[in-house]
Amino acid sequence: MTKDRFYFLRAFRSNLKTGFSVDLTTNCPNNCVYCYTQQRRGTGIYEREIVDELYYGGEILHLTQEEVDRLNRSGGLRLFSGGDCPRVENYNEIPEWALQELTHIKGDADEKRLSLKAFTKNIIFANWAVRHNIRCQLSIDSFGTGFPLEQALSLRLQYPHLVRIRTLVENPTRIAYWGERIDVDILTLYHGRNLEKYNLQTMPWYRSKAFAQAAHDYPTKVCCQTGKCETCPVKCGYTT
Ligand code: SF4
Repeated sequence: MTKDRFYFLRAFRSNLKTGFSVDLTTNCPNNCVYCYTQQRRGTGIYEREIVDELYYGGEILHLTQEEVDRLNRSGGLRLFSGGDCPRVENYNEIPEWALQELTHIKGDADEKRLSLKAFTKNIIFANWAVRHNIRCQLSIDSFGTGFPLEQALSLRLQYPHLVRIRTLVENPTRIAYWGERIDVDILTLYHGRNLEKYNLQTMPWYRSKAFAQAAHDYPTKVCCQTGKCETCPVKCGYTT
């Protein structure tokens, strides 16, 4: 797919880790203290400008069969890599324009037999997604900004083929706590800047002893063991 000057303003784009990804906004409503997207702002490195609404241009239909197969081997095309599903101000609805985009994306994905996996903290979206047979990674955390745990557990019970619970692991002392929980499927080890105020300690997959130990202890749960979804053994928990 060629890049032009509107490339960074498009919903669908290539992604170093996941192959491709889709974002309907880069102006994430969640305001997590550990947000990687916000940490990159002002650095010029993998930085995305803030855009409220991004539109899907039918790119899925132009994927080659090889690209579709590769994405399916990665657990599906990732929805929301630099943000979350947009929401209207009262938080109780998905905006109409975003619903139209999501319906378009799902229709094209079905036509290409492409799985979708959405990373989200948005309850309204998750309930919509599971009813439309879209896989969901429900992101929880210890900071009060994640998907509410009780509702995540309930959705996981109702839709065991679609829903996985993913948690942020804040620092090495928390690896075993999260790793031993049988109702938590995927561990994302924090890999942003050290933030002492929040007890956030970076554990990048490529040069951290803590990460290597976690991957050894919880090989079916630790995200990013190879740095690429295509070669990942975990596949967001969608291995069957
Ligand atoms: S668990 Fe694997 S497939 Fe899922 S996001 Fe992490 S690296 Fe990618």
